[in-house]
Amino acid sequence: MKIRLDRTMCDGFGFCAKHAPKYFSLDDWGYASLTGDGTVDEADERDVMRALLDCPVHAIIEITEDDDQ
Ligand code: SF4
Repeated sequence: MKIRLDRTMCDGFGFCAKHAPKYFSLDDWGYASLTGDGTVDEADERDVMRALLDCPVHAIIEITEDDDQ
């Protein structure tokens, strides 16, 4: 699975970094950025899905094959 983070939408709730700290880091203001290129190991998909679903502003988006151009 591959994800992308729209930082313009992020509102700094920090849930993503709580659920999947390996993939999201927060800056001093609590805004998230992606660690790495968005490729998620299969073993971590559950954590990342939880982050995705818990983000109140839907700033984390799963990229499907069709979008990934
Ligand atoms: S959960 Fe969403 S709004 Fe909160 S820090 Fe992560 S990306 Fe930003």
